[in-house]
Amino acid sequence: MKTFIEPFKIKTIEEIPITTIEQRTQFLEDANNNPFSLRSEHITIDLLTDSGTTAMSAKQWAALMDGDESYAGSRSYYKFENIVRDITGFKHIIPTHQGRAAEKILFSVVGGKGLTIPNNTHFDTTRANIEYSLCDAVDCPVEVGTKPDVTAPFKGNIDLEKLEAVIKKAGPENIPLSMITVTNNSGGGQPVSMQNIRETKELLSKYNIPFFIDCCRFAENAYFIKMREPGYENKTIKEIAQEMFSYADGATMSAKKDGLSNTGGFLACNDDKLAEKAKTMLIITEGFVTYGGLARRDLEALARGFVEVLEESYLEYRIKQVENLGNQLIEAGVPILVPTGGHAVYLDAKRFAPHIAPEFFPGQAIANEIYRISGVRTVEIGSLMFGKKDENNNHVAPPMELVRLAIPRRVYTQSHIDYIAEAVIEVYNNREKLRKMKIVWEAEFLRHFTIKMEYID
Ligand SMILES: *Cc1c(COP(=O)(O)O)cnc(C)c1O
Repeated sequence: MKTFIEPFKIKTIEEIPITTIEQRTQFLEDANNNPFSLRSEHITIDLLTDSGTTAMSAKQWAALMDGDESYAGSRSYYKFENIVRDITGFKHIIPTHQGRAAEKILFSVVGGKGLTIPNNTHFDTTRANIEYSLCDAVDCPVEVGTKPDVTAPFKGNIDLEKLEAVIKKAGPENIPLSMITVTNNSGGGQPVSMQNIRETKELLSKYNIPFFIDCCRFAENAYFIKMREPGYENKTIKEIAQEMFSYADGATMSAKKDGLSNTGGFLACNDDKLAEKAKTMLIITEGFVTYGGLARRDLEALARGFVEVLEESYLEYRIKQVENLGNQLIEAGVPILVPTGGHAVYLDAKRFAPHIAPEFFPGQAIANEIYRISGVRTVEIGSLMFGKKDENNNHVAPPMELVRLAIPRRVYTQSHIDYIAEAVIEVYNNREKLRKMKIVWEAEFLRHFTIKMEYID
């Protein structure tokens, strides 16, 4: 059969708001032309993030009911621990309420002044937690990973030469651990190859540096390995994931992604001393070691989520849905980051709206117009999110100007995808009408959450 279908049927539904263009124009104005400030009740399709926005299965909802809310020694924790250990092989599995809590604990234990932590590309919360401990966070992406219009199978890889240069410059004794993020979220949701993970391990072993995986999207990464890396086509997703983790000494995870749940995370490692310190921090900041800031029923939902995320029919649907949206846009000539990654399609705002210079926020102008004409919310990842001012108050733009369309897991159907594509193509076909924007108010940190914008006429 040519038609690919959602490998599930719908048991319960949630209405989505249908609004008019006049209403949306007003909502956007009320939100100071910042989609982040919109109310969800005014959004028809929400592509702001794939984090914690998953639709849970009937079995997960049933598992919630079976949660054992004991403070200590809950059987729900042991179910969670069992499945996470089965996939990752790590000795210590420490639950947290989300990914950044695991990062906060890890870096308050191993971070500190004068130290360096490399990664393919640090996710923003990872970088923030490392820098908060006064440690340096260094990115080592492969060259091709920074070029939106160049296709390659594993654009998420870490550059081993750059990594070795960082190790030599900082001194291996000043690198408490080195990381790889799978898939590489900040680099466009691009996968990392098994070969790259293996070679990273070999390099780090040479210098005695522990290796950690930021594994938020480990199942999506494993699926890409199965599809693209020779030698893995006949392995199961679980076997591939197990091999990925076999090279690592530990991991952090936001289970709001490939845990197929609405909240949760973990820190895992093999080192007893590190685990002991982390567990002490956990008790101070999150909760006891058998729940880590979560309701125990959430651990039940996660334990089931980790089983479902390894199902190939789910992953095939997941990756093909994102790819299908990308292909519809490419066929209409819309410039996007290629190839499409695991969890999102990224519009290349520089080529989409070349008449708007980065300092006038082309990505934000595109995101606003998509919302205005369709009720689809997306997010700018460019000068608004990462732009800085130099000492002469000139705009310093990041390397890429993107608009991210993150796809929540199991939430939207193919007709929703068709609607999203139609909206983006419509904006693209009228792109010369997109207008420059300016900031009228901004917060000191993470300004994109609350920024106020106006159009320049
Ligand atoms: C989401 C994410 C995190 C942070 O997790 P939260 O659950 O949002 O705290 C860390 N790393 C990556 C790669 C992520 O995508």
